[in-house]
Amino acid sequence: ASYGAAAAEKELENPLTPPVEIKYTKLLIDGKFVDSISGKTFATHDPRTDEVITHVSEGDAADIDVAVKAARKAFDEGPWPKMHAHQRASILNRFADLLEQHGEELAALDALDSGKPYEQALYAEMPTTVRNFRYFAGWADKIHGRTIPTDSGHFAYTLHEPVGVCGQIIPWNFPLVMFAWKVAPALACGNTVVLKTAEQTPLSALRAGALALEAGIPPGVVNIVSGYGETAGAALSHHMDVDKVAFTGSTEVGKKVLEAAAKTNLKKVTLELGGKSPFIVCEGADVDKAVELSHFALFFNQGQCCSAGSRTFVHEKVYDEFLEKAKERALKRVVGDPFRSGVEQGPQVDREQFNKVLGYIKAGQDEGARLITGGSRLGSKGFYIKPTVFADVEDHHKIFNEEIFGPVQSVTKFSSVEEVIKRANRTHYGLAAGIFSPNIDDINTLSRGLRAGSVWVNTYDVFDPTLPFGGYKQSGLGREKGIYALDNYTEVKVVVMPLSNPAWQ
Ligand code: NAD
Repeated sequence: ASYGAAAAEKELENPLTPPVEIKYTKLLIDGKFVDSISGKTFATHDPRTDEVITHVSEGDAADIDVAVKAARKAFDEGPWPKMHAHQRASILNRFADLLEQHGEELAALDALDSGKPYEQALYAEMPTTVRNFRYFAGWADKIHGRTIPTDSGHFAYTLHEPVGVCGQIIPWNFPLVMFAWKVAPALACGNTVVLKTAEQTPLSALRAGALALEAGIPPGVVNIVSGYGETAGAALSHHMDVDKVAFTGSTEVGKKVLEAAAKTNLKKVTLELGGKSPFIVCEGADVDKAVELSHFALFFNQGQCCSAGSRTFVHEKVYDEFLEKAKERALKRVVGDPFRSGVEQGPQVDREQFNKVLGYIKAGQDEGARLITGGSRLGSKGFYIKPTVFADVEDHHKIFNEEIFGPVQSVTKFSSVEEVIKRANRTHYGLAAGIFSPNIDDINTLSRGLRAGSVWVNTYDVFDPTLPFGGYKQSGLGREKGIYALDNYTEVKVVVMPLSNPAWQ
């Protein structure tokens, strides 16, 4: 299914018809799809053409308030937090089954709204979404406290109780997967949720919300408000009756969310933010495999991954061979209509991101990095960008420090493991890192020396629901997924009582 850039360019003029009908465009509040209070809507655009796909109800502070009230009522009056945990698990498993059954429809909505390849959404992201719900459903009846001996003749035990109403703010790069990472652990622990989707990609979560109701999740437990960050997102993070906020997006907005919590009711906050992750190709590495993996680490999802391996460090002994092959691989990347089979890369999500990425490419050239392939848009319609590779990138270059969030690989040379640890850690981010090496000593030194929340060795972007994910430094606060996620969505209560029979002290 591979074809050259020239053929692809012609094809981009005539986008394929997506195999999906849009059924849900209103806000989901208290178990019903409703118009926004203001009556306003906003357009969501097709990144292949920038044409309007449909108009979606635009929630703002007033809608957030109604949604929080519904979530509060569902939390305080039940049945969700109070039902037997195994019943919650059954309902979440039923929801996972429904998501799985509607996988093609949901994947098509994400491909249409965000520009990601439909096959990637269907074969990689849908299974991950479903697995997250099944994994956390499995935890629902295994969340429990401890009994604790005391010196003072008291019997004490802990209860792990749900936090309450959870505000969840998600980005546009993985709409359904982010929905699952946020909603699944929150619900498994017995919380209720108000989710604010990204303004670029509101469609799939609304469809999933309808399936949540069909699965038997009670009204008010999952509320979904489409809308903008400065209005709906800010209202959620400032709301006095929200007990916890989980946010994924830029570091800049993450700081605002934390500040909002500090200024209002000190709601608990978890943040999953940006990154500038190193991918390190060591001496002795199989260059073909290193090229393929580093290509995947950067270009996956049009380069729009918080964990993108966006600083490629290559050992001097394999540097030249690596560059030649990295260029070849980038040239072979199949860029095209996300709905065509075999396409690896679609358009960037919207005009803003498209212009931002092109701006970084220009900055790379202006600062003297060596452009070895790509460097411009593909075609004349939509937001397609040619897979781009820069060589000889220096540590002070803008493209080596700032999150580009696009298909732009920046390669630099290094000489020793000690040197690369220092350089790789010279960033205010610390989300992930990749190591490619056949040498166990180099692997051990690097994996312990790198300051990052995930270190992938001879692999990349492994997002199993069992594994914790989150950042060091300004890449975030807390960990999502795995057993660690349960801490985000539970409060610990200690219950203490005297032991009146001394024989049992
Ligand atoms: P963003 O941080 O602005 O948006 C993420 C989410 O936060 C969206 O739902 C948005 O509506 C909401 N938001 C925006 N302003 C808010 C506010 N004041 N209060 C509460 N919520 C608010 O990200 P973006 O504009 O979509 O992208 C900008 C950059 O962020 C990207 O270029 C990339 O570098 C980074 N990003 C990172 C991730 C990630 O997964 N870590 C995802 C998307 C974007």
